[in-house]
Amino acid sequence: MNVDLKNSGLVVSEDLLRLFEGIGEGVIVTNRFGEIVGMNSAAEAMFGLSKEMNIHKNSAILLNGLCDPDTKKQVLPPNLPFNQTIATERPVESREFLVRRPDGKEFYVQISTSPFFGDDNALAGTLGILIDVSNRRRLEETLTQRNLQLSAINRIATLLNRTIDFREVLEYSVRQTMDIFTGDAGAVLLPDKAGRRIYVAASANLGEEFLSEVHGSEVASTIFGRVLRLATVESVSRSENFEWMPRSMKKSPFASVVVFPLRAKGRSVGVGALFSESERVLEDAQREIMEGIGTVIGAAIENSRLHEETIQKTRLLESKNKELQQFTYAITHDLKSPILVIEGFARELKRSGRLEVEQDVLIDAIMNSSARLHSLVNDLLDLARVGSVETVIEETDVGELVNRVLSDLSIRLAEKKIKVTLDGNFPKLYLVARYVERIFTNLIDNAIKYMGDQPNPQLTIGANDKGDHYLLFVRDNGIGIPQEFHERIFAIFQRVKTSDTEKVEGSGLGLAFVKKIVELSGGTVWVESAGKGKGSSFYFTLPKQ
Ligand code: ADP
Repeated sequence: MNVDLKNSGLVVSEDLLRLFEGIGEGVIVTNRFGEIVGMNSAAEAMFGLSKEMNIHKNSAILLNGLCDPDTKKQVLPPNLPFNQTIATERPVESREFLVRRPDGKEFYVQISTSPFFGDDNALAGTLGILIDVSNRRRLEETLTQRNLQLSAINRIATLLNRTIDFREVLEYSVRQTMDIFTGDAGAVLLPDKAGRRIYVAASANLGEEFLSEVHGSEVASTIFGRVLRLATVESVSRSENFEWMPRSMKKSPFASVVVFPLRAKGRSVGVGALFSESERVLEDAQREIMEGIGTVIGAAIENSRLHEETIQKTRLLESKNKELQQFTYAITHDLKSPILVIEGFARELKRSGRLEVEQDVLIDAIMNSSARLHSLVNDLLDLARVGSVETVIEETDVGELVNRVLSDLSIRLAEKKIKVTLDGNFPKLYLVARYVERIFTNLIDNAIKYMGDQPNPQLTIGANDKGDHYLLFVRDNGIGIPQEFHERIFAIFQRVKTSDTEKVEGSGLGLAFVKKIVELSGGTVWVESAGKGKGSSFYFTLPKQ
């Protein structure tokens, strides 16, 4: 303990001095004028003082070095804890200061002061305990910095999440990085497919000259290409990596550019560039946050690109589909007139009455075949028309509609002695009644056709409310459908070929109709059947909206 007893006017016992020395924290003793009269070695070490220094003389210098930790401004003498304790004769607890040592070093200290009194009960001086809190403060500062970085990444991620549009993603990215890092200009550069050249995909505040120099430049020749290849953050300024600075930039007001990689799925998909009129010194923390932001932007670019590709492919598919539909329509339409001609001539021939019995049988066969062909062509034309002609959407009571279909098919149901059950509450929905009628007609018609020789034939038609949609079904206990046909039967002309179905007539168009109508209405359709002889359940959904 270094105590200037001569000037202190204090009497400090040897025991007390030893006690102070034993305390691990810094101890400072002042007289009642606030001048330092003693400090232990821990305090001396904090201030970088040697034993020989005259602390009394240096008292003012030491105390003048106490600054506010937030504003970094010097604390005026009346606000120092020692002086406050002297003024109030009360302790001051745990105040923090930034200390600027005479040798230029800085540290943070927490000071608590208490008054002490002489024999006459008058204030003799103050005792201050000093704890070095630099580590904690530094940790706090790093944490605050981290928080700022994370919230910046979060902000840009939230913004980019709002859009999937490629152009918007690029423009947001440029504007947001300029905003976060206070840049004067910015750009996003993307390579071509071969990765040989790099292009300015979006930019802000960059001159024509720069754009024409960099746009389409070879990857190997620029700082942008270099970052793309190395996938590290690089900074170029008049004093750092000057040789990499684009020529036009040297003449521009910009003194530095930081280039960071935009990464997705572990590879660089482009680079971001941030231009400043001042020379930007890139700190490690900034480098990290740029890497983070680069990953967020990279993912957003990749997503919007995929989205764009999907849209383009869907458009292509739609146009191909339309073409195919028009083609089918044209062909079936053209088939119709020759069939009508065949039908007409066969009828005429029969009516002429000049036929032998054998010829008459043959003409009947021709007429039967052409009638089937006629209905097939009509079905195909109908199928091609679904969704492509104007339709009326109206409020439809599905229960009423099902009953109408059942009554239309009542003769055939009765012939096969099929017991019909309605299950659940049928909804009222806004839809094209004609279409839904067609779904039920086809499904119930199939249930009748494919009942087989079931001794106790049953048909159940039901509806269930599933929240945002209705689930409807048509269930029979007929011949069933082998598992491998469950998907296929919904395609055009696909029929199950077994001994059970051999004699059943059909075109293989009915379920294709059902699928097309259900999907057009925004629903899905599928079949469940445990296999041969186990019956079939056809399910389909209809959205409520
Ligand atoms: P089809 O005119 O042949 O009935 P669909 O498209 O309506 O054409 O049906 C396709 C095939 O699915 C049918 O040929 C039949 O093999 C099978 N199928 C459809 N409904 C049933 C059912 N309820 N029970 C058993 N098999 C069925």
